[in-house]
Amino acid sequence: MSTLQSRLADVDRQIVAAIRDAGRQESEVTRIVVTKFHPAALVRDLAGLGVRDVGENRQQELTAKRDEVADLSDLRWHFIGQAQTNKARQVRAASCVVHSVDRPRLADALHAAAPVEDDVLDVLVQVNLTDDPGRGGVAPAELDALTEHLLTLDSLRLRGIMAVAPLDEAPASAFTRLAGYAERVRAIEPTANWISAGMSHDFAEAIACGATHLRIGSAITGERPARG
Ligand SMILES: *Cc1c(COP(=O)(O)O)cnc(C)c1O
Repeated sequence: MSTLQSRLADVDRQIVAAIRDAGRQESEVTRIVVTKFHPAALVRDLAGLGVRDVGENRQQELTAKRDEVADLSDLRWHFIGQAQTNKARQVRAASCVVHSVDRPRLADALHAAAPVEDDVLDVLVQVNLTDDPGRGGVAPAELDALTEHLLTLDSLRLRGIMAVAPLDEAPASAFTRLAGYAERVRAIEPTANWISAGMSHDFAEAIACGATHLRIGSAITGERPARG
């Protein structure tokens, strides 16, 4: 077994255990492997191990990597990084799901970038669990307004909410707050029931708080190479 294969199997065992502990079903949880900074060859190796969902946080890297493994047509590409409004067309073209919609102007730009009239892109609202606006995500006070706005844009399908746990707070406490925000979004749009949360060091806590989409990088891929 390769190191990659054994790390993947190990993480997947821990995911299954956390799902059981939470009294949830495995079918409710999707594991996304975050491949940022790693070469496209890693995506190919992961696909060979049965991985279908991969995540990237920079548009240029996403676009380039997706082109390099264009033959792997059944991969689902998740964009999880901060997006510039003027790159919305490229983000939309390369993504199956955009997790990081955090302002009305970005939502508008992604909507305007629809390539054809009936194209629909899955999106999540990213909420900021810190007090630092630079961390990305909409402030909780503006969550309902952004949710309502997204529902007016018919080329975007609002699937739920996404967040990153703060560095200075226990993940379980942050994810409990996130579950409350997720409930607010569902009160506005009941079908928007995805919760994207949980990374290498906190996915068990995220699962306990209802996460449906885990974004796991280094625990599976190993140390990231220096940012290129
Ligand atoms: C890098 C990244 C991850 C994965 O982080 P790991 O700690 O390597 O698991 C998850 N979510 C976002 C938004 C990221 O940028």
